Amino acid sequence: MKICLFNEYRLGWVTGDEVVDVTAALPQHDAGYAANFWTRLCHDYEELGSKIEAAAGRGRPVPLANVRLRSPVLNPTKVVAAASNYGSHVEEMRDRGAGGVDSWLLEFDVFLKAPSSIIGPGETLHLPRVDGEIHHESELAVVIGKGGRNIPEAEAMQHVLGYTIAIDVTLRGKGDRSRRKSYDGFTPVGPWLVTADEIPDPHALQVRLHVNDELRQDADTGDMLVKIPAIIAYASRVMTLNPGDLISTGSPPGVGQIRPGDHMLAEIDGIGKLEIPVAGDKGA
Ligand code: MN
Repeated sequence: MKICLFNEYRLGWVTGDEVVDVTAALPQHDAGYAANFWTRLCHDYEELGSKIEAAAGRGRPVPLANVRLRSPVLNPTKVVAAASNYGSHVEEMRDRGAGGVDSWLLEFDVFLKAPSSIIGPGETLHLPRVDGEIHHESELAVVIGKGGRNIPEAEAMQHVLGYTIAIDVTLRGKGDRSRRKSYDGFTPVGPWLVTADEIPDPHALQVRLHVNDELRQDADTGDMLVKIPAIIAYASRVMTLNPGDLISTGSPPGVGQIRPGDHMLAEIDGIGKLEIPVAGDKGA
């Protein structure tokens, strides 16, 4: 099932190039500050999934082109991201050489991105006025279902509600990684959430990213050094994973600079395409 949020955070069921409003399947919907309907959906998907499907059958499809898609994660308690999780990406970062990358940054680990850096499909990424290159990192991202702590690797996949695409936008240079990756707009996510049953093997997906007409990244998720169950187990030994939390699984090689006027297109087979226009600083 492909689930999206659209317009004023309506819940949508995506089929082909159409979407059906299935908000009525939710026990509660409030798109304002109390937007925890999404967290509840992530937590209770097992029981709500069939209701959503029934609502989809009754509803009237409208073209996706006629709605505004939103990020398919809403107010996650955290965005966890894997670092240095593809060998060839570690190599390209090592090659940046003197003054570029501290050696500890080349070891696998997880770090946090501010949830306020999330933007949705088609939303403009405004690059802040800062010194240093701002790079794209296109990544397979996991949305957590029920959540938990100290999750054993063998049970980790039961905690995956589904998958989406994230671009882990990064300011290169010295200084704290979480700060360099948490500027407003630095976490585009979308276009929707594909439930885990539709992706039997998340380690057999092709991740591609175009900047304008140039193919920058083209990699197989099977090349991840630390696979999804191990990332979930590792992260959940540190912090309780809550329903709706996002885990970005790390960038494949081919990262590179983005500039105002660019257009990013990230795609993953079986998920979809995430398009993000890039512009200059938005100002205050
Ligand atoms: Mn990354």
